[in-house]
Amino acid sequence: MSTCTRKIPIARPSLGEEEAEAARRAILSGWITQGPEVAAFEEEFASYVGAPHACAVSSCTTALHLALHALGVGPGDEVVTVSHSFIATANAVRYCGAVPVFVDIDPRTYNMDPGLVEGAITPRTRAIIPVHQMGIPCDMPAILEIASRRGLPVVEDAACAIGSEMLIDDRWERIGRPHGTISCFSFHPRKILTTGDGGMLTTADPELDRRFRLLRQHGMSVPDTVRHSASTVIFEEYPVVGFNYRMTDIQAAIGRVQLEKLPAMLARRRDLADRYTGILLGIDGLEPLALPAWARTNFQSNPVRVTPRFPLTRDAVIQALLDRGVSTRRGIMNAHQEPSYTGTGLWSLPHSEHARDQVLLLPLYDTMDPDDQAYILDQLRELAGRES
Ligand SMILES: *Cc1c(COP(=O)(O)O)cnc(C)c1O
Repeated sequence: MSTCTRKIPIARPSLGEEEAEAARRAILSGWITQGPEVAAFEEEFASYVGAPHACAVSSCTTALHLALHALGVGPGDEVVTVSHSFIATANAVRYCGAVPVFVDIDPRTYNMDPGLVEGAITPRTRAIIPVHQMGIPCDMPAILEIASRRGLPVVEDAACAIGSEMLIDDRWERIGRPHGTISCFSFHPRKILTTGDGGMLTTADPELDRRFRLLRQHGMSVPDTVRHSASTVIFEEYPVVGFNYRMTDIQAAIGRVQLEKLPAMLARRRDLADRYTGILLGIDGLEPLALPAWARTNFQSNPVRVTPRFPLTRDAVIQALLDRGVSTRRGIMNAHQEPSYTGTGLWSLPHSEHARDQVLLLPLYDTMDPDDQAYILDQLRELAGRES
């Protein structure tokens, strides 16, 4: 093993002086949680994705939980989703006492195969959760057609999908408008837009938005912002059991700066991703992402499939790159293969399992040095030339 001084991370949040200044402004303002910065971030976020309502919360996990809870998903209910996702998707179903019913993915897009959804619906099904995995848009028109025919709400797990777009009726529309009933976003540092931690729910339904606002703050009938500005005494009530899923004003202030920077961050990621794809297509045995013509991803992650034609296994490629100073990650996990899901069902999800075992994620972040990217591609070319 050679000693290597180069160190290329898998991802790097794009935070600078402007975000630090925004956090400082919030801290010194005298109001540091769920106040004016949160309200402004919600408004700006709604306008960016094209949604009538946006409600900020503490994470995408809590957003998914609130979404299902607000839709009335409870014990004994079933929710159709994918196993091939970060575990938070399926966990949110279980928080409600409901059971996730897993369908397999389309191996090309890594997303829910719409052709399998109908067969997974039973009289106990209460919702469908498609995941825009790694930022790659799901086939929403196909999923929505089934959902509307079966009278089921659709919660989009858009954790990774800020800025991704799909072609709907000849128009490019951003994920989160929302196309389903509710969309849930994440602002964890591994996603493109970060607030440290944080999440957002978007919907076109004002009644659902009202419920999110009630539930995120302990079920409190009158928010503290309203009581604070009232000239007469107001006592709040607690009509329902809620949660503390608030976002702080410090997070929201950072998020507002990130949202302004987002178009430039996305453009840079797409340039880097195009360069990866152009070269990877010429390496036998490696398969970069092949998107359908109706989808534009934000490249939150950049998946490459290491097929059996490649001289090294996926795990050996990850190790060889690590030895050369390059951090990669295995593809997306499957909830059904984790110990916490033992006994939840006997699933046949071959495409999900192959994707977990064959895919690796390559480093991609908007501040990536083009020399580092060239270096990674050189290493992959060199590995491809080895005898198997
Ligand atoms: C990251 C992620 C989540 C969880 O987001 P948090 O904000 O960390 O709670 C949920 N679903 C998917 C698909 C994710 O990638």
